[in-house]
Parts: sequence; structure tokens; C-alpha cells
Amino acid sequence: MDFSLPKELEELRRKVAGFVAGEIMPIEADQRNFDDHENIAEVPLETLREKAKAAGLWAPQMPAGRGGLGLDTVGMATFYEEAARSRFGPVVFNCAAPDDGNMILLDRVAREDQKDRWLQPIIDGDVRSSIVMTEPAPGAGSDPTMMLTRAERKGNDKWVISGRKWFITGAQGAQHFILLARTSDNKRGALTTFLFHKDQPGWHIERRIPIMGPEEHGGHCEVVFDGLEIEDENRLMDVGEGMKSVQIRLGTARLTHCMRWLGMSKRAVEECLGYVKNRQNFGSVLADHEGVQWMLADAAMDIEIGRLLTMRAAAKLDTGDQARKEVSMAKIWVSEILHKTISTSIQLNGARGYSKDLPLEWMYRYAPQAKLVDGASEVHKMVIARHLLGEGTGFWSWD
Ligand SMILES: Cc1cc2nc3c(=O)[nH]c(=O)nc-3n(C[C@H](O)[C@H](O)[C@H](O)COP(=O)(O)OP(=O)(O)OC[C@H]3O[C@@H](n4cnc5c(N)ncnc54)[C@H](O)[C@@H]3O)c2cc1C
Repeated sequence: MDFSLPKELEELRRKVAGFVAGEIMPIEADQRNFDDHENIAEVPLETLREKAKAAGLWAPQMPAGRGGLGLDTVGMATFYEEAARSRFGPVVFNCAAPDDGNMILLDRVAREDQKDRWLQPIIDGDVRSSIVMTEPAPGAGSDPTMMLTRAERKGNDKWVISGRKWFITGAQGAQHFILLARTSDNKRGALTTFLFHKDQPGWHIERRIPIMGPEEHGGHCEVVFDGLEIEDENRLMDVGEGMKSVQIRLGTARLTHCMRWLGMSKRAVEECLGYVKNRQNFGSVLADHEGVQWMLADAAMDIEIGRLLTMRAAAKLDTGDQARKEVSMAKIWVSEILHKTISTSIQLNGARGYSKDLPLEWMYRYAPQAKLVDGASEVHKMVIARHLLGEGTGFWSWD
């Protein structure tokens, strides 16, 4: 078993780390570079994106033939963790959610003409995208079979959409949308995936939902469909393959969340190291107190376990395996320790940890969503338990 990174990947990791330290961190440190929703403002973002492209650090997950770096999942884990040392990193390199997962899905399953039209502009950074799935109760949330939004056939070549969705990340700024809708009442194969453009009539954003944390660009929106017409040629995959497309998207997208959250967890710890090494009290620096060392050790171990779970799942995805239980374990663990490590760092920084002088309070308000998006922790535990019950002690076999 070899835990070392190939030489080229280690070089790429260093390059990303250098770019984050030299180009992004100074921008992140100046509040004037934030927009009204606590994310990077469009002007500094565009400047940094141009620099990232010029440095050859663009769209790491996309094929080289379409302008990306063509990394496999292990390579992505290395890149994304380093990128997410800054809150702005992923969006600068074009590997932030939801574009990241949307590009991965389109790259895997779209026809070439669909890729040219719907995927390439996202890769190029010319448009943003949204995935449109979740509905307010009693519709689809953790259980997609509850989906109420319908796509009805109109003639042979069109579909008409009606329904309501919410928490659609990025909807206010997106131009390309991936939509899940019900096309039959069969128990299996009831859902189908469609692509539409923001300028098509028959849908609107009802509101940008106010949330507790900082927002992705374009917010988290509630949207209504009242007669949106979609050409059949803009259907993604076959009729009834909606759930399959969701699984293909989420398999990797859940793990890329983990990769980014690990970068943020490491940054949270980094934010307290200088303070505990220098802050004097009770006759020594904080770092000399055993109680502080235990807190630091727990944070270090928690993050390292998350990295191992994430890398194992990434390596398994790269073999073509769906790595369902591995991805679920990584998702639960990393979302929990994201919250925990940020909390530890706030505590060790004393009052300043609670201030807006440090990025920790921003991260702390961001963190709870990690346990909800792309499957609540409880649902992932259901998946893990299902595997354990089916596989018995074979659950722990090595590949
Ligand atoms: C910041 C943010 C961004 C999002 N972005 C998007 C997006 O871009 N596109 C999109 O389509 N959706 C998006 N979502 C929605 C997200 O995917 C859903 O919130 C998630 O799938 C859970 O669905 P729900 O909110 O309907 O919770 P529900 O299904 O109502 O569940 C509520 C809670 O019940 C518990 N629970 C549910 N099922 C079980 C079970 N079987 N066993 C035990 N406990 C259970 C869990 O604790 C869960 O949190 C986003 C959500 C957030 C918070």
C-alpha cells in the first residue's frame, strides 16, 4: 500500500498551494473584496480566474481536451484540499459546488453536442449552473421518490414542466440548469433529467432564501415552474434515468465536498496555531498546557481520518467502483469534523475567535450545511448500515 503522491501530482499540489498563498489569501484578507452575501465579489474573482487560467490551474476535474487538467479523483482530492485553504479557492479554480458536480455529470453522460452547448461554457467560466432537485415538503428531499414536479409530454419533441423547487444553489446567477422531474408514476424509473437555459420562459425565481451562513454566488433560491417547455433533445440520458443521473453526479460531488471541507478544516486549525504558540498565561504559552495539546491532537487526528476516508473513496471511484459506503463514510465524518475543528479553533483563539477579525465565525456559520447537502448524515448512515447488514464482516475487506 503506497500513500505517497506521484511526483507530478505533488508538484501540482505545491503550485496550487503557492497560488493560494500568493494570489488568493491577500484578496481574502481584505473585506472590500467580499460581496453583499459574504462571498468573493465578481471583479476580484474575474481577475483571479484569469490568473488561475494563465497559471494552468483551471478546471482540474475536466478533460484536457476541453480545457481542464484531466485529473482523476485522487488527483482532485489533492488539488481541492489545497485550493480550499482559502474560502475563495474553489471558485477561483472553477472547482466549486454546484458547477463542479454539474460539470462532472455532464462530462460523464451528455452527448457530444450536449457537451458543446451545455458543458463547455461552464468549463470556460462563461456561465454558471444549478442542479434543481429538492422541493419543499411534501415533495422530494432526502427521499427523491417523493418528487412532485412533473414533466408532461407535449407532442413528440417537447416536455412541459410544472412544480416548485427550493434551495437551488446559484439559481440567481446561473444560466444553465439541470432539472429533475417526474415523468411517470411507476415505482422505478419515474424521474427524468432535463437541461434548460435561464432565458426560456415558463419559470421564475420566487425568492432568494435567507440562510444562516455565507452564500454561494447566486444564493439558494425557491423557484416555480409554470409551463416551462423543454425540447426533447435537451433531455439528459434516457426517460426514466433521472435517479441514475443523480447517483452519477452525487457519487463524485459528495466526495469533492469532502475534499474542500478538509482544506477548510486544516485552515481552521492553522488559524489557532500562531496564537497558542505565542499567547502567554499561567506561566507558559497556551501550547504548553496539556489540555490545549489534547484539543490540537484531536483536531489533527480527526482531519487525518477524514483525509484517509476521502482518499480511499477517491481511489475506489478511480477503479470504476461506485464506492457507495466509502463515500457515505467520508461524507459523514468530514462534515462532522468540519464543524468540530472550527469550534476548537474558535475556542483556542479566545474572544478573538468569536470576532470577524478571523475567518472562523464565517466558517462556523457555513459548516452546518455540510451535514445536509447532498444527503443528510442520517441518510448516509442508512446506506452504511444497509451495506453492513448485507455484507456482514466482509464490510471491512480490503480491495
Ligand atoms: C446550503 C444548501 C444548499 C443546497 N443546494 C441544493 C441544490 O443546489 N439543489 C438541490 O436540489 N438541493 C439543494 N439543497 C437541498 C438539500 O439537498 C436537502 O436539504 C437535503 O437533501 C435534505 O432534504 P430536506 O431538506 O428535504 O430534508 P428532509 O428530507 O425533510 O429531512 C429532514 C431531516 O430528517 C432527517 N432524516 C431524513 N431522512 C431520514 C431517515 N431515513 N432516517 C433518519 N433521519 C432522516 C435528517 O436529519 C434530515 O436532515 C441544499 C440545501 C442546503 C442547506
